[in-house]
Amino acid sequence: MDLEDNLLMMPGPVPVPPRVLRAMSKPMINHRGAQFSAIYDDCRRILADIFKTENDIFVLSGSGTASMEAAVGCIADKDDRIISIENGKFGERFKDLASRYGSVVPLEFEWGTSVDLDPLEAQLQEGAKAVTMVHNETSTGILNPAEQVGKLAKKYGSLFIMDGVTSLGGDDVFVDDWGVDVAVVGSQKCIGAPPGLSMLSVSEAAFDAMKKENLPYYLDLKACKKSADKEKTQTPYTPAIPLFYALQESLHIIEEEGMDARIERHHKGAAAVRAAMDAMGIEMFPQLNEYSAYSNTVSAMKAPAGMDSETLKKEMMKSGITIAGGQAHLKGKIFRIGSMANVSYRDILSTLQQIEVVFKK
Ligand code: PLP
Repeated sequence: MDLEDNLLMMPGPVPVPPRVLRAMSKPMINHRGAQFSAIYDDCRRILADIFKTENDIFVLSGSGTASMEAAVGCIADKDDRIISIENGKFGERFKDLASRYGSVVPLEFEWGTSVDLDPLEAQLQEGAKAVTMVHNETSTGILNPAEQVGKLAKKYGSLFIMDGVTSLGGDDVFVDDWGVDVAVVGSQKCIGAPPGLSMLSVSEAAFDAMKKENLPYYLDLKACKKSADKEKTQTPYTPAIPLFYALQESLHIIEEEGMDARIERHHKGAAAVRAAMDAMGIEMFPQLNEYSAYSNTVSAMKAPAGMDSETLKKEMMKSGITIAGGQAHLKGKIFRIGSMANVSYRDILSTLQQIEVVFKK
């Protein structure tokens, strides 16, 4: 496989623009010096704009899961009720993670189906320290009702911990307006940087809830705050400096495009994928209800009759286009096309065209 000529149309890692790759080759700097602080400050400023929040923002050297674990690991103590909503692979991960720290109340919906708010409200009435949910469930291509869940959690005095790993930077997310206490994103998704960093916002209420004696050590969010609140903004431990260079450059690209334009481009890209699937007679995988929508960053489709989706993936690879299959029990049954970050309309059209060629073979 030619690495230089591979179109990554999977839901992360995404293609990284040359100027971001070049940024990573700059010399190393002192991570306790003014230059690093300036980079971290700049990243936090732009991220606050993307998250639409005044909460604290931190960047962790570790992929999306690290920030998910930091959030639940610092908030949940062993007897704390944590409601974990699951309707896909990453909701399941949040549930599994939370059950290592707290007492999880699973709220499970079949993968690919929508979240229902009535059972959530019933559980919230019994009291819970926090609710976890994935906003954009990458494994099934469904957009979950973050705003409603945030508002319900607030109504019953619970924290809302949201995985925005594949929505932040590509779709509308209003952390403050929705009442999201912790929101998490990964560098390799809609942000358009290489994998290896994750970014999260943390509310005052979330910090107040971190009362347990033994917070995780490496993923201690209070330590992140202490280091960031110093005269020079820092991280508690040595950060992945080349990835911070890349993140800053990718955030500048976002700033240049403007979040509104970027979100509109993502919406149009995913709508184009859905229109093409409809024209080819291929069914979307998610089953929507009044609270859900199709994802605007990753589209999940049922494998067409007579073709395993792994075969489709392999055939696409032959023409240098990487799409994603299904995860866990959905392997072979669905396929997914990521249209996130800096993927262009031309990239999307080439992918759709090649899918048609494979189907018609
Ligand atoms: N949450 C969602 C919604 C994801 O799509 C992913 C990765 O695909 C993750 C969490 C895990 O992130 P990472 O692989 O960066 O740890």
